[in-house]
Amino acid sequence: MFKLFKKTIAKLVYPDGLRCLLCDKEIPRTDNSLCPNCAPEIISHFCVLCGADLTNAYQRYCDQCLLIKDTLNFDFARAPYAYSDVKVKKIVWQLKYGKKFYVAKHMADDMTKIINETNWNFDFITYVPIHKKRLKQRGYNQSKLLAERIGENLKIKVIPTLIKIKHMQTNATKLGRMERIKALSGSFKRITSVRGKRILLVDDVITSKATANECSRILKECRAKEIYVITYATSKGIINKLY
Ligand SMILES: [Zn+2]
Ligand SMILES: [Zn+2]
Repeated sequence: MFKLFKKTIAKLVYPDGLRCLLCDKEIPRTDNSLCPNCAPEIISHFCVLCGADLTNAYQRYCDQCLLIKDTLNFDFARAPYAYSDVKVKKIVWQLKYGKKFYVAKHMADDMTKIINETNWNFDFITYVPIHKKRLKQRGYNQSKLLAERIGENLKIKVIPTLIKIKHMQTNATKLGRMERIKALSGSFKRITSVRGKRILLVDDVITSKATANECSRILKECRAKEIYVITYATSKGIINKLY
């Protein structure tokens, strides 16, 4: 009990931005939520289509897009960070499983910076839904939290457009791309009219692109005009190394 009390007091004394989100060290600059040791590096070279992290500066497309770009249903995707970075994984984990909601603010602010670098024009923001069973377990949808903060930053409204109707029992991250595509088929249902709309789709991580692609497929089938995907982290643009 006393521990909890101490923790609560610490949170009041050290609001967001004064302590590093990962190591809890005090940070002098209030415009950053991570200390210099914990801050991941922003991706400098990325696939022009899906935003995957590229090591070769001369490459325009990642290996995966070279193979499957005709089957991609979204127009473009970007992310500030590579999911292969341990620090990035830790941050994503804190929001997804650690119930540290304030991490969403930091993540969404970095995602907003990337959106501001693009020439994307969209009418509204939406997010990848989770199944109501998962929502009950977790208590929140991390992608919705990110979308709401991005919406606040950009002053653009957030509209739920999809619901997840199929609950995946197995951990999707353990499945390969093809298995994931199969498992996702029939998972989402559209709930809002998207005809003629340009939409920003928000998720925490894009790896195999299967989820973003399936959501985009449904939205495009319902006549959405353009779909841009923003995530906090993305994969390396190398085949078989999607994480
Ligand atoms: Zn730190
Ligand atoms: Zn790509």
